[in-house]
Amino acid sequence: MSRNEILVIAEQNYGVIHPVTYELIGKARELAPKLNAAVSCLLAGPSGIVAEELCYRGARPVYYMEHPCFAAPNEMLFRDNLVGALKKIDPLMILIGATPFGRSLAPRIAGALLTGLTADCTDLQVDEEGCVIQIRPAFSDNILAHIQTETTPQMATVRYMEFDEADQDPGRPVNIQRMKPVTTVDTTTEILRTETIEGVDITRAELIVAAGGGFKRKEDLVLAQNMADTLGGVMAVSRALVDAGMADSHIQVGYSGQRVKPKVYIACGISGAPQHLAGMKESDTIIAINTDASAPIFRLADIGYVGDLYEILPALTEAFRRENAQ
Ligand code: FAD
Repeated sequence: MSRNEILVIAEQNYGVIHPVTYELIGKARELAPKLNAAVSCLLAGPSGIVAEELCYRGARPVYYMEHPCFAAPNEMLFRDNLVGALKKIDPLMILIGATPFGRSLAPRIAGALLTGLTADCTDLQVDEEGCVIQIRPAFSDNILAHIQTETTPQMATVRYMEFDEADQDPGRPVNIQRMKPVTTVDTTTEILRTETIEGVDITRAELIVAAGGGFKRKEDLVLAQNMADTLGGVMAVSRALVDAGMADSHIQVGYSGQRVKPKVYIACGISGAPQHLAGMKESDTIIAINTDASAPIFRLADIGYVGDLYEILPALTEAFRRENAQ
């Protein structure tokens, strides 16, 4: 088959396409004309997925390996099947979402294809010589490394919420090419039980009240939770609170936590360390509450309150509550 494809490995979870897939298709469409390449998608999933949606977003063709064994995210089974398909397709470049599943799957595929992998990219560009430059933060987000892979296919995982989703046009031609799995049983791993994480998904929230090291005790987090509830948002935390055992890591924002892009991000008692900003700096409006007027968070904030969160949070929450009641 062709080598001139930028191929996006579609991520799905129990049949639901992860939005990072549409973001990657969008980015691939931007790069494709510069590389004289097409944008394709490789989807392994159970039946019931509307694979046409990937065509409507601009991928053509969509290689679809349909089987119930792909419902659950089993990296070994995906690797064993996708590697064979990728060898046949022989794309120029392979893009995978830097989600927990993608981060686990990508190195396994790269290893099997004997090719390089740039993990956790935040941007992809094409230079004057037509080479793909993979950009990713390094040294705790203090520099941006520009990486060019010598091996092919070039492979990159790209962070979620870094790019806009590809627009959807149901008028785009549908081209779905069916592929058969080579194996439907993972003989290397036995899944003993599946656990779901209880609680909110902060990555999709439109309003986040984030609590940081300014909170002295775990019980005090109720102040942030009350504010989030009043405004119809969710509570998140900085790593300071996770490290202190005051909150669970699945609601941590930042470099080693989740990336979020809400409409409103209210940072309460958060200094604004680069590793925290890495996870929330794309928020539409940032509001900061901090006793220290020189805290770095104020440099990014659209609105800043210099003061004690223990006074400001209850007062603001009450004001919003009264507003809601009117
Ligand atoms: P602190 O640094 O303790 O700051 C507390 C802030 O609250 C201060 O600015 C203070 O002025 C203010 N304050 C204190 N009392 C009050 C009050 N009563 N009212 C109002 N303000 C008050 N951090 C993350 O958050 N997420 C990450 O994903 C992450 N990943 C990391 C990865 C690596 C490899 C490393 C090295 C670090 C990482 N960190 C991460 C840690 C990061 O460097 C900071 O240590 C952390 O973000 C600090 O959290 P904080 O600002 O909430 O707490």
